[in-house]
Amino acid sequence: MNTTKTEFLSKSAQVSAQIKTAIRQGYAWPGGYTLFGVTASGGCLCVPCMKANFKAVVWDRKNDARGEWCVIAIECAQSLEGREWIEENGEAEGFALTTCDNCNAILND
Ligand SMILES: [Zn+2]
Repeated sequence: MNTTKTEFLSKSAQVSAQIKTAIRQGYAWPGGYTLFGVTASGGCLCVPCMKANFKAVVWDRKNDARGEWCVIAIECAQSLEGREWIEENGEAEGFALTTCDNCNAILND
């Protein structure tokens, strides 16, 4: 087998299940943190954009397109710095808000 980690992650059934769960629920349970997709091109996508473009997400994953819709992982805003903290102190500390690459929605909770 000569499968790269990206190919493995993008095609794994576990990730497909996580994407469907994220689209259904929108938030991590328990915890209530915002969920978002991480793409093969290194971008982030909010749940509403993944939902609205689900066909593109499925196509990119199936064809390993490595494009802007090729979601390889679902992450949770718990892994990001808090929105209030970044808005108050973040820029001075070198942090920036994480936004959806499609609609610019802020993903930090
Ligand atoms: Zn979006």
